[in-house]
Amino acid sequence: MPPPGAAGRIIGIDLGTTHSLCAVFEGGRARLVRNASGAVLTPSAVGVLDDGQVVVGAAARELGVTRPERVARCFKRLMGTDQQVTIAGKSFGAPQLSALVLRALKADAEADLGATVTDAVITVPAYFNDHQRQATRLAGQLAGLTVRRILNEPTAAALAYGLADPGADKRLLVFDLGGGTFDVTVMTVFEGTLEIQATAGDGRLGGEDFTDRLVGHVLRQRGLQLEAAEALEPLRVARLRAECERAKRALGEAEQVDVRLPDAQGALTDDRVALTRATLTEGARDLLDRLRAPLERALRDAGAGPEQVDEVLLVGGATRMPLVSAFVRERLGKEPLCGFDPDEVVALGAGVQAGLVAQDAALEDVVLTDVCPFSLGVEVVKRFGDRLQQGYFLPVIHRNTTIPVSREEVVSTVEPNQQQVRVRIYQGEARRVEENLRLGELEVTGLPPGPAGQQILLRFTYDLNGILEVEALVPSAGKRFQTVITRHVKGLSDEEVRRAVAAMAEVKFYPRDDVHNQELLRFGERVVGELPPIDREALEAALDAFETALAAGDREGFDAARQALLVTLSALGHPFAEGAGG
Ligand code: ADP
Ligand code: MG
Repeated sequence: MPPPGAAGRIIGIDLGTTHSLCAVFEGGRARLVRNASGAVLTPSAVGVLDDGQVVVGAAARELGVTRPERVARCFKRLMGTDQQVTIAGKSFGAPQLSALVLRALKADAEADLGATVTDAVITVPAYFNDHQRQATRLAGQLAGLTVRRILNEPTAAALAYGLADPGADKRLLVFDLGGGTFDVTVMTVFEGTLEIQATAGDGRLGGEDFTDRLVGHVLRQRGLQLEAAEALEPLRVARLRAECERAKRALGEAEQVDVRLPDAQGALTDDRVALTRATLTEGARDLLDRLRAPLERALRDAGAGPEQVDEVLLVGGATRMPLVSAFVRERLGKEPLCGFDPDEVVALGAGVQAGLVAQDAALEDVVLTDVCPFSLGVEVVKRFGDRLQQGYFLPVIHRNTTIPVSREEVVSTVEPNQQQVRVRIYQGEARRVEENLRLGELEVTGLPPGPAGQQILLRFTYDLNGILEVEALVPSAGKRFQTVITRHVKGLSDEEVRRAVAAMAEVKFYPRDDVHNQELLRFGERVVGELPPIDREALEAALDAFETALAAGDREGFDAARQALLVTLSALGHPFAEGAGG
């Protein structure tokens, strides 16, 4: 361990809704880091074992099928909210859960590099709002990482891509549909300069919604509703979701796939429901509709028509669905590029950004500019005739302005002898503030007496990480007021952050060297529920022997028990592929 404050290595992290990846910059290029199971994709799932130890990744995802009450997943969707997730009777916030994933990735990188990792670049959906970015920063902090840069995911993808052919002169569109978020980014590449022109998206739309539509469809065939079933029969829904996820992927190749219905205990029965491509298209029609507006807006903001896009880059696992790629092809009138793995390109870009932060000589000539994806401004009062009406939004920084940026706007008092003004700060595009996101406020006090119309100068500064600082200057009083919006998650003081960091350090991780055995055990447990009763006994016996060997300290006979379990699984038609990420 280096002394506190000493810099270790810096890593790039794609912290995804369903999968997370880690990359390092070495020898002039970014490369992905493998986890303890040998995979580059680590499922963003956190599980608590019976003894209280925490597992992250594939083992947790498998555990989630048989013991959903012990596992948290898709918590990226809760970032920036106060919502808590209860697993195994303990309550966690989304930043804490994300921090556990980050800690696992940090350990993987340290094992890979043989060096201490202290710093990170973490990617977020471009359309993540201020609160969600703050929560991501906090997650890094809780994992013991100094977050050197919060980078937009499509920008990261563009960086990885642009670097592959930096001399080119072209306009590129990145279409990123992940597990839970959707972003579109339009950029230009010209002589080593990558310029982001516009970004738009939907922070609550992704591949998981398509899976849920299939789950809902299957349940409806049996007269059930998804929400009700989820509350009443969580085991059934957890297993069905895993089955529908498999079916969704299979529909990429096949026209029709059968899904076996689980019983209330989560064991698969012989009751089957047929899913076709048409079922998916029908069920997801409104989801496809929601892809349209951000795509059009990004193009409009970039001042480009579809025909002025030279290349389209698909990012995110959900773009593998034929109905999504067909949508893109139809809208943009061209074949998307397929040179990059859509799962990996964001992490590789994060790795490049890590190289940029570390001032790696190989990246000397690369220039990257990004934009602020949403408008930032304040609430103002408007005068209609002699009536004053509150609640209007005055943008100070307009969306898709290149960052870093500093903009000023003058506002005035509306009453004579008004001594104070509360400056309410918002993010969004709506005309009325109530439809935008409230970021914070600044109290301007001690205005000198005088008529209405005294001027206050507002200065908004938005930096490369998406940190907004707002200053108010009262020229007549020579006063200056200031607030930094993005420093901590709302409601968390320095002291609370310190305590959260300490609490996080107390969490006991399942030993990393052994995680692949946990993964095998949980995989076996999941398979038990899929087998016909006649085959069940053999697998249970092999699992019991393996679990006994795993629990025994000396590990005598361990290899034999593991081997026997692997052979049994294969013989039953469920071979175990360690670290089979997706
Ligand atoms: P995130 O970055 O949000 O974790 P990913 O880019 O890993 O998301 O994409 C995950 C989503 O992609 C999931 O909803 C998953 O179901 C979906 N997905 C992955 N592979 C396929 C496939 N072959 N067919 C359809 N959907 C897929
Ligand atoms: Mg992603």
